[in-house]
Amino acid sequence: MKRLLSIIIAIMMFLISAITNATGDVTRDGKIDSRDIALIQKHIIYSVSLDNIQMKAADYNGDGCINSRDIARMQLKLLDLVSEPESSPTEPSTFSIHFIDVGQADAALVECDGHYMLIDGGNCGDSSLIFSVLKNEKVPVLDILIASHAHEDHVGGLSGALNYTTAKLTLCPVKSYDSDVFNDFSKYADKNGGGITVPKAGAEYMLGSAKLTILGLNLADDTNNTSIVLKITYGNTSFLFTGDAEREAEQALLDNGVDLSATVLKVGHHGADTSTTYPFLREIMPEYAVISVGEGNSYDHPTEATLSKLEDANVKLYRTDMQGNIYCTSDGHKVSFTVEKNKDADVYSKITPTLKPTAAPTPETTSPASNARDYVLNNSTKKFHYPSCSSAAKIKEENKGYFEGTRQELIDRGYSPCGICKP
Ligand SMILES: [Zn+2]
Ligand SMILES: [Zn+2]
Repeated sequence: MKRLLSIIIAIMMFLISAITNATGDVTRDGKIDSRDIALIQKHIIYSVSLDNIQMKAADYNGDGCINSRDIARMQLKLLDLVSEPESSPTEPSTFSIHFIDVGQADAALVECDGHYMLIDGGNCGDSSLIFSVLKNEKVPVLDILIASHAHEDHVGGLSGALNYTTAKLTLCPVKSYDSDVFNDFSKYADKNGGGITVPKAGAEYMLGSAKLTILGLNLADDTNNTSIVLKITYGNTSFLFTGDAEREAEQALLDNGVDLSATVLKVGHHGADTSTTYPFLREIMPEYAVISVGEGNSYDHPTEATLSKLEDANVKLYRTDMQGNIYCTSDGHKVSFTVEKNKDADVYSKITPTLKPTAAPTPETTSPASNARDYVLNNSTKKFHYPSCSSAAKIKEENKGYFEGTRQELIDRGYSPCGICKP
């Protein structure tokens, strides 16, 4: 029996070394760590047939002492050793992230096994876009809605989401913040999102078979540094979202020793210099990164420094300012990306700001959903308007709503058309 065990170990060593050699791409740094081992184990499951195992057993059995029962036992032992049920998403499992092009802002819709999570919703002007995206996706309900922090470019459009559907859980690092936009979001969260919950660092939530881990939040008085930093794990792939967290928050995460490693990094603070420090990036070691940023924005995001750090680290980069909406899928082993436009854009280059120096982001004109007919509602007067209507802009935030659908549907719901824009 002892000899049998040593034969099994020899076979395992042989297989692992052969497979490691054959899959040089598994290790990105030339060293094998636990992540690589997990990948190798998967390779063994998928690429080594039982016949091969039997053949290798015969190779190692110089004296002919192994009988068929031993081989059957070895097969069981090997299968037992290589199977790793926890990180093997079962079929038919799906996982995708849509990085929504909201200009100089953030919004991402995550789907796993028919469960949905929205991370940020862009600016107030993106409300109808967010509404359309959820509608096009036929999102039945948001399992989780996250406002990474209280700034308008993250919470502004969340009212559009909570106007379309409800959220079972709404996470935000603060429950109050001194701005009309936040108050509006907070009201919608109370009405349709179960109220704001401030999560604890280390908290875990499931989204289908994907796991959401809150890595940190509320690390300082500075609003950007309150950002919820989270990791989504799906099989052997993972996705790190850092909101607008800056270097102080990055350092605190490093000090806390949390596992930052991720396949995909949603680059912090729209690619600003204040984030993505070298030590932080080194811990993450992402293969891919996404920057959500407005074309020709007045903040000069993303900065040359951030772009060159990502390029130096061999990170494959995607940018919403150049490529519009960005779609990422994962099969639990590897991720793939598609973009709305400019697949081969020179993403590491600092493009010269265009001739809209301080203009507010105009996602409506860059989004594929922009042709959708949206109406703005005044829930107090029960009038509906075209979004471009001058009186729509004057509606108090607490009375304002958004609707996509036909005019008749609104009339059926008791609304009447505005006399100015005559929708
Ligand atoms: Zn921001
Ligand atoms: Zn911010």
